[in-house]
Amino acid sequence: MTAHIVSDTAARPSAARDSTHPDFTARFWGVRGSIASPGPDTLRYGGNTPCIEVRCGGALLILDAGTGIRPLGEVLVRQGATDIDLLLTHSHLDHICGLPFFAPAFHAGSKLRISAGHLEPGRTIRSVLQCMMASPLFPVPVEIFRADCSFHDFVAGDTLHPKPGVAVRTGRLNHPDGATGYRVEFAGRSLCYVTDTEHPAEGRDAAVVELARGADLLIYDSTYTDAEYPAHAGWGHSTWQEALRVADAAGVGRAVIFHHDPKRTDDELDVIAAAAEAARPGTLVAREGMVLSP
Ligand SMILES: [Zn+2]
Ligand SMILES: [Zn+2]
Repeated sequence: MTAHIVSDTAARPSAARDSTHPDFTARFWGVRGSIASPGPDTLRYGGNTPCIEVRCGGALLILDAGTGIRPLGEVLVRQGATDIDLLLTHSHLDHICGLPFFAPAFHAGSKLRISAGHLEPGRTIRSVLQCMMASPLFPVPVEIFRADCSFHDFVAGDTLHPKPGVAVRTGRLNHPDGATGYRVEFAGRSLCYVTDTEHPAEGRDAAVVELARGADLLIYDSTYTDAEYPAHAGWGHSTWQEALRVADAAGVGRAVIFHHDPKRTDDELDVIAAAAEAARPGTLVAREGMVLSP
C-alpha cells in the first residue's frame, strides 16, 4: 500500500530508480489547474496544465491532454511510441488544449484511442474536440491527425480494459459539466486520479472514497486550501486538506496534491508540502518531472 518515489527529476535529477515496481509508473508532465502559468514563481513545480504519463508494463496510458502533453509528445515521437490510450477526465480547456500540439497524433502509424465518460447522452468526445479544433478557434480540424485515431465514449462507473492486465475503473466526480475519476489497476497495485472535483459540505464524497479505497496512490484536486475554499464554493474544486481526509477515509497509501491554482507560487507550494507532510507523512505535492511508482 506504500507508493514509492521512483525519481523526482525536478528536485533530484540523479535520483536512483526504485527497482521494486519498475513496470508501473506515473510521470507528471502538467500539474497546474485552470490555465497554464509559466513564469519565475512557478519554475520549480511547473506551469503546464494536467497531463500524466502512466506506464503499465508495455501499455501507455495518458491521463488528460493539458499543455503538459506537448513536451510528452516530443519524447514519445523520439521513442517511436505508437500505441496510446488517452483518458480524459473531462473537456474543460485546461485538460484538452494540448491535444492539437501532441506530435504522435500527427504521426501516421501511431494508434491513439481517446476516451471520455463525462458527457451528457447525445454528445460525443469526438464532437467536442471537433468544436475546439475548428475555425476560427483553431485553423485545422481533428481530421488533420495522421495517426489511427479513435474516439470512445463511456459512462462514468464503467470499467475499461485498455490492455490485457490493465483495468481502469471509473467514477463520476462533482464538477461543472461533469468529470470522471480514474483508478488504474496493474500488477496488483493501483493509482487513482481524481481531478477536477468538489467535496461535499459535510463528510466525504462516498463515490470518491469508494473509487480510491485501498489505492496505493491518490492524485487529488487540491486547487485551494481549506481557508480559501469558502470563497470558491461551487467552482468544482477541492483542497489539499480534503485530499488527506479522503486518503485517510479510503485507506490510501500516498496522497499527491495536484491541480495547483495558477496563482500558487513555488514558495507557497513548499509551505503546503511541509504542512501536508506533517499532517500525513509521505504526502507529496505534484511537480513536473516527478515520477512515482504506485
Ligand atoms: Zn482543471
Ligand atoms: Zn474542469
